[in-house]
Amino acid sequence: MLRVENLVKVYKDVRALDGLNLEVKPGQVYGFLGPNGAGKSTTILSTLGLIFPQEGRIELFGEEVFRDGRFDEGRLVKAKARVGYMPEHATLWDFLTPEQTLDVIADAFGIPRAEKEKRIGELLDLVGLKEVRNRKVGKFSKGMRQRLLLAQALINDPELLILDEPMTGLDPKGIAEFKEIIREQRKAGKTVFFSSHILAHVEEVCDTVGVIVKGKLRLKDSIENIKREFLRKAGYTIIIETNKPVDWGSVEWSVAPLGENKYRVVASRDVREEIHDFVAGQGAKILTMQVKEPSLEEIFLKMVQ
Ligand code: ADP
Repeated sequence: MLRVENLVKVYKDVRALDGLNLEVKPGQVYGFLGPNGAGKSTTILSTLGLIFPQEGRIELFGEEVFRDGRFDEGRLVKAKARVGYMPEHATLWDFLTPEQTLDVIADAFGIPRAEKEKRIGELLDLVGLKEVRNRKVGKFSKGMRQRLLLAQALINDPELLILDEPMTGLDPKGIAEFKEIIREQRKAGKTVFFSSHILAHVEEVCDTVGVIVKGKLRLKDSIENIKREFLRKAGYTIIIETNKPVDWGSVEWSVAPLGENKYRVVASRDVREEIHDFVAGQGAKILTMQVKEPSLEEIFLKMVQ
């Protein structure tokens, strides 16, 4: 669907993309996760031919649209007709209603009059704006605006949806609703590629997550494996109190005394059960145990700094 190879984009003295590799397969919901400034928008704008990278290759639907500093205009135009795009900083016409907005967009895409009404009705239903189809957009919440922007991106029934930070600024309810719409898109056979700087946005909706840091893809896996990797890097901290001193001589974890019979154990994974066994093996008992697991969001930010 989308393949990016060794993409390099330099803005004056900023190397925004530093040999980026990325592959989105048909039917995937791919979360493109990275901190602000990592190069997510630059990647997206490059794949759409909206900015010019200096080096690398881009393929859309198996066709090479960019190579070593040049876009193939003909192929790009054809490929883009099959893509729906929702920009990060999009504006809406506040004085129009959702129905009028989609009507304007449908005309811009040359959708025949006979199909237009049906298509707009389906989209308003899909994004949950049917009830407010005749209200002015100016009074809409952020969540409603984002859903209307998504409906715009879907107007030409694209095979690939590219969304730049679509859930940023939404409250938890808005995020859950947006994810539900993405799931429906996947069921309808579409491929979705969306960016975010917040781990929670890619949870429970993506089958693949790529982590971009400083213009390079650092990790690509399922969200479960990425979370495991984050936790392994960050480590678990477990504080225990025992009824008598324990000799930690033979353990692989890092153990520091915190006071009388009180210890801090730091390990790369959850070793609670092993601590129990180890302490019991020395004929001692655990009086209290406290596990400090950093939030995944904290770990993610720590890892990518
Ligand atoms: P993200 O979308 O992950 O927040 P961007 O792709 O917007 O990251 O930016 C990547 C890097 O490129 C940042 O350091 C940013 O400041 C820089 N950058 C982005 N656009 C421009 C531009 N038009 N001119 C100069 N530098 C830019």
